[in-house]
Amino acid sequence: MTAPFSEKDWSAWGDEAVADLQALLRIPTVNPPGDEGPAADWVQARLAADGIESERLDDGDRPNVVARLPGDGSGGGPLLLAGHLDVVPVERAHWSEDPFGGVIRDGYLYGRGAIDMKNMVVMSMAMLRFARRAGLVPRRDLLFAAVADEEEGCTHGSRFLVERFPDKVEAEYMIGEVGGFSQDIGDQRYYPIQVAEKGMCRVRLTAHGDPGHGSIPHQHNAIVRLGQALLLLGQCRLPLHMTDTVAETLRIMRETQGAPTRQVLALLGRRGVTDIVLDRVLPDRQLANVFSAWMTNTVSPTMLDAGIKANAIPSSASAILDGRLIPGQTFDDLLREIRAVIGDGYSLEVILGFPGREYPVDDPLYRAICENIQRHDPGAFPLPVITPGFTDGQFFGRGGARCYGYSPVRFPKEDGVVFSRLFHGHDERIHVDGFRWGLRALWDLVYRFAFQ
Ligand SMILES: [Zn+2]
Repeated sequence: MTAPFSEKDWSAWGDEAVADLQALLRIPTVNPPGDEGPAADWVQARLAADGIESERLDDGDRPNVVARLPGDGSGGGPLLLAGHLDVVPVERAHWSEDPFGGVIRDGYLYGRGAIDMKNMVVMSMAMLRFARRAGLVPRRDLLFAAVADEEEGCTHGSRFLVERFPDKVEAEYMIGEVGGFSQDIGDQRYYPIQVAEKGMCRVRLTAHGDPGHGSIPHQHNAIVRLGQALLLLGQCRLPLHMTDTVAETLRIMRETQGAPTRQVLALLGRRGVTDIVLDRVLPDRQLANVFSAWMTNTVSPTMLDAGIKANAIPSSASAILDGRLIPGQTFDDLLREIRAVIGDGYSLEVILGFPGREYPVDDPLYRAICENIQRHDPGAFPLPVITPGFTDGQFFGRGGARCYGYSPVRFPKEDGVVFSRLFHGHDERIHVDGFRWGLRALWDLVYRFAFQ
């Protein structure tokens, strides 16, 4: 029983939510180009089935759906539940099921968007629908937004809404991605909750040199100079910047893991030894890379631009660096760190960016999420995390909301499913019973936080 509904309700509504998720997964919304129109139509129709009016706030042909269940205002500012409708592309040959077929096999529902994040769209819609069915009036406005374009930078989705229709999505709190999935590490089970996300700082790095004929090599070849800079950047780790979030992540992991993991974790975050731990002690390279991204600004060279002719040495060569910022770090901080690695004689230009965001763990909603996890999966640990990329939280956060990533879903430990590999990966799928579990958990959270 999850108040105020009966087991019979939950059984029927779980079936309904699974069927809804299958239906939404069958509507392809691969971005680019997105083409979220049919999915937005479907969302509006499902809300309307329970008498909930929604509004379309389209940016050209990119739709956004917003719905509001007005509260009596006695419980604080609005709570926004948000999910994006678009999904990333698939490499069809690597899938064992049709990524847009809504197929259920061996207890899992397959589909692009099953965990990122059509599951949350369906669950979030259901919160408004359940409340309406029970005739409940929230104590704070309950808002729902299904947005376009998250996977290509949020321009036509959350960013558009916050910049063009701020009053429609203004909220005290937002719950969205990334978090709420079970993750077993050793004998312990954790549920990461996004409380911070890194910023972005895309940089054009240009090396200059002397032009010349390709038949006579010389010492001032811009492409060679660029290569030297990229090699240095690729081989280094930028300086450590600890955040409250990561300090808390490490503290909880330290207190819950056994030896020798506990001892290794105790060294992470300390100046002087962190590099050694990340490079030589941690056996799992992938994990070491994640820790590294949690604690430092990063730059990944992702595009190159040089030369006009095979036999002409160009006078300049440039690369795009996908830079990511720890919350609190500025563009200038990152440029200074890059210069310290590559030296002088290069030009650096920021072409796109925004700062990172960090929300407190000393917060009523964050505490409610932690209690929710402990109530629905006793013995599991909530784990605050920073997301190395960015989400719609970047933009809803600019609109003034405190944003937490919590889209609850439980995966059976024995299946060995690693959530992070399914995220944008092949055979993206969700555990059907774990999704039903998440639906109830999310309702319990929303009910306690917005209705009681
Ligand atoms: Zn997503």
